[in-house]
Amino acid sequence: MAPSTSRRGPGSVPLMTKCLLTVVVFLTFVMAGCGGGGTPTPTTTIEQPLPAPTFAPGSTMARIQQAGKVKIGVKFDAPGFGFQNTGFQNTEFQNTLTNQLEGFDIEISKLIAQAIFGGTIGDASSKVDFVQAVSRNREPFLQNGTVDMVIATYTINDLRKALVDFAGPYYLAHGDIMVKTGDTTIRAFADLNGKTVCIARNSTYEQSVRLQAPQAIVLPLDTYAQCTDAINDGRAQALATDNVILAGLAQASGGKYSLVGLSFTDEPYGVGIKKGDAVFATFLNGRIKEIEDSGKWRQAFGSTLGKFDLPIPQPPPIDAGSAPAAAPAATTTTVPQSTTTSF
Ligand code: GLU
Repeated sequence: MAPSTSRRGPGSVPLMTKCLLTVVVFLTFVMAGCGGGGTPTPTTTIEQPLPAPTFAPGSTMARIQQAGKVKIGVKFDAPGFGFQNTGFQNTEFQNTLTNQLEGFDIEISKLIAQAIFGGTIGDASSKVDFVQAVSRNREPFLQNGTVDMVIATYTINDLRKALVDFAGPYYLAHGDIMVKTGDTTIRAFADLNGKTVCIARNSTYEQSVRLQAPQAIVLPLDTYAQCTDAINDGRAQALATDNVILAGLAQASGGKYSLVGLSFTDEPYGVGIKKGDAVFATFLNGRIKEIEDSGKWRQAFGSTLGKFDLPIPQPPPIDAGSAPAAAPAATTTTVPQSTTTSF
């Protein structure tokens, strides 16, 4: 895209210098990305501002652009995806607090905002109103217009597709369980029977845990912080959710919790939008593809989840239309023994 000169102001870098810097930084990034297999070191980005795009009048993109703000529902209590200190009221995570909203979902949000408003990532970030979403309020937030999008570890499934639409997926997670480090009594799903498993209310695990371990006692709470509290004080022995969320929680706890290492569901993360907005969904799918093809997806992953020593995966194919059913059948719980993994 052509650089926009309209954003230059007093004291800004002259255009020629800016272009040269951009090329150098871009080449550095491309070379890091082409290194083959390894985790590229995230580089400092001095980027070209994108020109503000023009959208069809009446489209959601045009409405948001005109409003000058986009409201995005994100998690505040999922380290690695969407995390802010206020998301955790319990003390054990206090030493990890940065007072900033950070994570992969936050980076994806900013990149999407940039495609609506143009400008730099910094410009676009200042036009995002991040709204705290928990698992149970994502559909109502979209339905009642509290947010324009939900980018919050949000699994695409048929139950939800009856209520909202999705773009993506932009990431594929898998189900796992987390226990107190040293708890060797839970090595497989069968071990959960008779034990209490915390899940986020209205997360996909409300169903999948019941399917996989019918005798487990399910404890639904609103946030993952509440679930770790429950494990801590003995109200629950395990927490079931996406492996990457658990990896973040385990990491943030400084090794207090460990993942069992099951991979019992597929959880394709989508960008949730209001039902019936096919134009917006198509626009978002195009932007997600662009983010992936340009290397920005890898960069966003490396600077967020990469900190948890997670290898950078390939993004899944973008096809929200063929998302799996809401309650995955018990087809992938074939890991009777597992290695407990500490992060
Ligand atoms: N990805 C799962 C879901 O959307 C679990 C994580 C979450 O609750 O956000 O339900």
